[in-house]
Amino acid sequence: MKEEAQSDLFKPSPGQDGALKQDGVMVRETACRTLLNRWGDRDYSFNCYTGCANGCGYCYARFMQRFHPHDEPWGAFVDVKTNAVEVLTRQARRLAPGSVFACSACDGWQAVELRHELTRRCCQLLLDAGFSLDVLTKSELVLRDLDIFQGRPVGLGVTITTPDEAQARIWEPGASPVSGRWRILKEAGKAGLKTRVMFGPLLPGISDTPEALLELFTQAAAAGVSRIWTDMLNPRPRVWDSARAVLRQHRPDLLEHWRRILFEPVVRSEYEAGLRARVNSAAAKAGVAYLLS
Ligand code: SF4
Repeated sequence: MKEEAQSDLFKPSPGQDGALKQDGVMVRETACRTLLNRWGDRDYSFNCYTGCANGCGYCYARFMQRFHPHDEPWGAFVDVKTNAVEVLTRQARRLAPGSVFACSACDGWQAVELRHELTRRCCQLLLDAGFSLDVLTKSELVLRDLDIFQGRPVGLGVTITTPDEAQARIWEPGASPVSGRWRILKEAGKAGLKTRVMFGPLLPGISDTPEALLELFTQAAAAGVSRIWTDMLNPRPRVWDSARAVLRQHRPDLLEHWRRILFEPVVRSEYEAGLRARVNSAAAKAGVAYLLS
């Protein structure tokens, strides 16, 4: 990633109530009481930011707005937890070391991280305290932090939902280009890290076709990843409203197809079985079926 180009994105302009509008995203400073939380199948997760300027049209983390209401829609605000490192320092002293997912409700390496370096400093702190990291991102900024990851218990994962750059710009407007995400995996692999790729949610009618899947798995083989996950579109809260708006603008022909997959149980279960078969077939053709989780 070219640092100058990224910095240009973050020339602030004045907003209201201490907020700064940066490249169309309202950025506010806030404080947190805790940072490390118990999380799913890992031991913990943390998020130094509330909100995510990647603004993915299918984002499941939108539910966060129920707990942190904002006037702006998801993708148009980021709250920066300026005391994240101090809070984590206290928590890391008290908690038993374990695996930490970075990050569960935002992209920890979204553009605002270039200026604040909170995710970087928290990762460093956790590794020094004996925790292991499981990173998942769509941002090339993560390559900045290979220096602290090398030789440490860190798995680096990247999410890719489509091989098509134009579709990725539509669905993940603030994320790095797909080519950049493949670059992350290759560079991290060269640095000796275990790398993983998450293909999901696969976008019905867009990236769930045999051709798109074969392209994804072929690229995964070339990138030398050690594990591949796939995921289908899920009817999580607020996802349909957002996805529907994107489809209306760019692919109105797919509106009914998506609605039925999300909300009609029989259609959904048939779709799931068909998708699983296409995934298995494409992975086998690319010679990476054994990497599927
Ligand atoms: S990168 Fe993840 S958290 Fe951020 S908007 Fe996209 S799906 Fe949501």
